Formats: sequence, structure tokens, C-alpha cells
Amino acid sequence: MPDIHFSIQVACEATQPTIRDAALGERAIRGLAGIFEQAGIKATFVAIPSEMRAHAALYRGLREQGHEVGLHIHPSDQGYEEFLGVYGFEDQLKIISEAARVFEDFAGFPPTTFSPGYLSANDHTFPAIEAAGFRHGTVSCPTRDLPQCACVWGHSPMDVHYPHRFNRMLTGDVDFVEIPQTIDPESRMWGGAHPLDLRVELVDAKNHYYTMEKAVKWQVEAGDRVPVKYLKVVTHNIFEFGNPADFRRETLLKMIDAARRICEKAGCAFKAATTGEIARDYRRLVPR
Ligand SMILES: [Zn+2]
Repeated sequence: MPDIHFSIQVACEATQPTIRDAALGERAIRGLAGIFEQAGIKATFVAIPSEMRAHAALYRGLREQGHEVGLHIHPSDQGYEEFLGVYGFEDQLKIISEAARVFEDFAGFPPTTFSPGYLSANDHTFPAIEAAGFRHGTVSCPTRDLPQCACVWGHSPMDVHYPHRFNRMLTGDVDFVEIPQTIDPESRMWGGAHPLDLRVELVDAKNHYYTMEKAVKWQVEAGDRVPVKYLKVVTHNIFEFGNPADFRRETLLKMIDAARRICEKAGCAFKAATTGEIARDYRRLVPR
């Protein structure tokens, strides 16, 4: 019976200049932590440095509960341009390292997992992340085609892999376990520029059900060619997840429930996992 790792990543950025609502961010995180506790799920929180400055104790608490806490960046928050993918190797390494340093200063521990804002990247990004010391994360969104966000992924791998050193869309030998966003390449939105993914706030639970069902199906059919199978749900700490009447909360709860049912129907074991746990399994099965 194959395992389906069920992973939820929360991008924490309620303190960024366009939102500037630290109290909302805290309510969202506490609401999510409650949902995860009830569901028996350990999640991955990735925070921009200003979040860590605002809520370091909160994130330390999440980590003590077994959640993973890593780094998210919005370069404009640090005084750079908005999108990481417009920079060369040296600048990307500088931006990521600066953010990691501020994060650690406030958190008291180093960030492990990494994910950039807008999943903006270019061919210098994976080597820069590796050089900054990160060993796993989510950087890619296959078939996302948003040049205005310096985020173009073409038909990059849809499963866990080590990225190529010179071409972000290929597999290679970068010492970083990339866990792409779960998508349905055939269901397009935004004039075809974007696939349906498992961003809680993107669509309703019924649409997410089909994306999850298709993702499980192709991975099961791939058998050993996809050694680590997973569903990656993503969201942001900018919704009222603690409010029982909130639509996003309801969507997330339904997604968790649906994922369990889909796994059962497909003869798979539902296994909640952080990004780090998925990476660990991958490294064990696929030595670099
Ligand atoms: Zn973000």
C-alpha cells in the first residue's frame, strides 16, 4: 500500500507592506494550528523575516509542537525588487542569506525549508538556495506561466527531485530536495497561464477534490517511478482560519477530509508530513 504524504504549507506574510496586519496573521496561525491539532497534522510554516520579528514566540511554539518552520521571502520587503527571479546568482544568495540571518536572529533557530514569494525563480535560483544552506523546500509550480512575476516553469517535473544546476526545469545534482506544488496541468485559469493548484483560497473544496484525485491517480499509476508520492496544499496566514464561519476554514477542513477519502479509495495510506519529512524520505530512497 503506497503512502501519500499530505503536506500543508502556510506562507506567513501578514506583516508585508501591502497587508500590514500582524494581528490578522496571528489569528490565522492560531486558527490553523487548532485545525492541524484536531486533524493530527504537522504542517510547514514559511515566514518572511518581518513575521518572525512580530511573532517569534508564536513560531517557536509551533516548532515545539512538531510543525516545521522555514523561510519565505518577498525581496521587496527587504528593499529589493519584488521578484527573486529577476536577480543573478550573487544577488539571490545575498537576498536569501540576509533574510535567513534576520529570521534566525529573531527566531533563535535557523530556518530549514525554503519557499520564495510568487514561486519566482530563474536558472540561478536553485544553486543560490543550495549555497545559502537550504536542503529542501518548494520553489516550483509546474506549468505556471507568469513572466510578469518572473515565474515561468514550463513542463518542469511534477514530482520530488534534485534540480539541475543550470536549468531550473530539469532534474540534476543540486543538493536541494525540490517538492513542486501539486497541480492539475489540464485545468487552466487566468487565460491558460495558471494551472489549478491546491491553494486553499483559489477555488472551492469540490474543485480541489478533483485536483487531489487526479494527482493521486497519476502518482499511483507511475508506481516506483515516483518513489515519494504526495499532495501539497498551500495557503497564507491572511484568512480568519479560527472563525468557524470562515469559508477558507471550511474549504481547508473539507480538503483534509477529502484527501483521506481519496487515499482510501485509491488503496493508499494517508500520511501527514512536513516538507522536511518528505525530503527525508526522498533522500533515503533516492541518494543524490
Ligand atoms: Zn508570499
